[in-house]
Amino acid sequence: MIKSINPYTGETIKKYRQDTKSILNKKLKRAEKQYKVWRTHSLSSRAKFVRAIGQVLRENTDKYAAMITQEMGKPISQAKAEVEKCAWVCDYYADNAAEALQNEVIETDAYKSLVRYDPLGIILGVMPWNYPFWQVFRFAIPTLMAGNTVLLKHASNVMGCAELIEEAFNEAGFPEGCYQNLVISSKKVNSILKDDRVKAVSLTGSKPAGSAVASKASELIKPSVLELGGSNALVVFEDANLEETVKTCVQARFQNTGQSCIAGKRLLVQESVYLEFVEKFITQVRELKSGNPQDEDTFIGVMAREDLAEELEKQLEDSLTKGARLILGGKRRKTYFEPTVVIDVHKKARIFEEETFGPVMGITPFKTDLEAIDLVNRSKFGLGVSIFTEDYERAEALIGQFDDGAVFVNELVKSDPRLPFGGTKESGYGRELGTFGIKEFVNAKTVYFK
Ligand code: NAP
Repeated sequence: MIKSINPYTGETIKKYRQDTKSILNKKLKRAEKQYKVWRTHSLSSRAKFVRAIGQVLRENTDKYAAMITQEMGKPISQAKAEVEKCAWVCDYYADNAAEALQNEVIETDAYKSLVRYDPLGIILGVMPWNYPFWQVFRFAIPTLMAGNTVLLKHASNVMGCAELIEEAFNEAGFPEGCYQNLVISSKKVNSILKDDRVKAVSLTGSKPAGSAVASKASELIKPSVLELGGSNALVVFEDANLEETVKTCVQARFQNTGQSCIAGKRLLVQESVYLEFVEKFITQVRELKSGNPQDEDTFIGVMAREDLAEELEKQLEDSLTKGARLILGGKRRKTYFEPTVVIDVHKKARIFEEETFGPVMGITPFKTDLEAIDLVNRSKFGLGVSIFTEDYERAEALIGQFDDGAVFVNELVKSDPRLPFGGTKESGYGRELGTFGIKEFVNAKTVYFK
């Protein structure tokens, strides 16, 4: 049985019986059978279904958002925004997939030579709970638009969302077998991946999960995309617009109650503006409204599971023993963690070296541009970095020196269907979204006419 528990009330929402071997086999068969048909659909035909599911999402935003909030404690207004973003990714690929996947003619000595982008087959998605709708749509929509079929193993604590997502695909009229939900624990992922009918896997989650799945995939010579953790830095230079920057940094850390891979988790501030910045920052964090995630005006909800909150508490304690000073928050009641700010965080502290997945911000001063670059790059993660400066020439000169998959100037790192998204180092490999994302699960087929 897989249990879905409301992290705010502690109540069990529902128990899910896991798919048996025979159910899984039926799902695989259906996905394989449909793949042979779905791959022959034109892109405009696939786009009709994708547009339709965007519409289903818009019509049922409240229902889907309510389930997100119940299952993982996301404040309801943020849950609604998540569902709306999913509809956006549907529109984006319905409008742009045909252009992204069009044949590329390459001049050679042939009469005609070109590359075409054909689908691969059944693609397995393994997804996390923190954006339980967005992570799935970001992966599934381009994968389906490219002509593949999808099997989805969602995180165990959001099986209600998983069920609703499958329902939405059915309601949009997708042919049977295009998209199916697998009710399985992580232990069964390898057995699905091993099946010859499954051609590739995309995993969004932690390093241990990514490493386990990618090792299996490489043993089987199957492609994988990994979107893993992050510890993005927010770098505030002395010439930044401090008012604007503070607002952006508060959002970057505390939205989704800090449980975002691309959250700004390490705030680096140039020494000359350090004290002024810290003061403005705490003032704004103090104003964040904690409360019942069901309330429209709640900004900080609860963390998705108590074990995650306990881990965050340990990371925080470690930073204090290594010299950091707690200046706001720091207390926890079950899944609720106060918005917390610690300053003078040392680069050897766990909250600097590891990913912190909750509402805790560590602030560290730096003196020079070179020191800032070193502090950013010493992370084992490489999802993204935000730099704040009024001098765009200075920014341009710095961008190439960061190891990360994204550099945002005067903005928090965010995903946008039009732009590629993905990391370096232990944040994973491969890209989602944009034209790069839709080309992850395709066969770039060389065609040559003499
Ligand atoms: P997680 O524990 O790694 O779980 C992610 C998914 O992998 C779940 O479906 C989980 O299933 C499954 N899984 C776990 N261990 C597995 C294994 N050994 N073999 C096969 N599947 C396995 O991560 P999470 O706690 O749900 O999510 C938080 C993490 O995801 C953070 O590190 C965050 O930074 C990262 N994340 C990254 C991105 C990105 O785009 N880079 C986006 C969002 C989140 P069960 O739930 O059944 O264990």
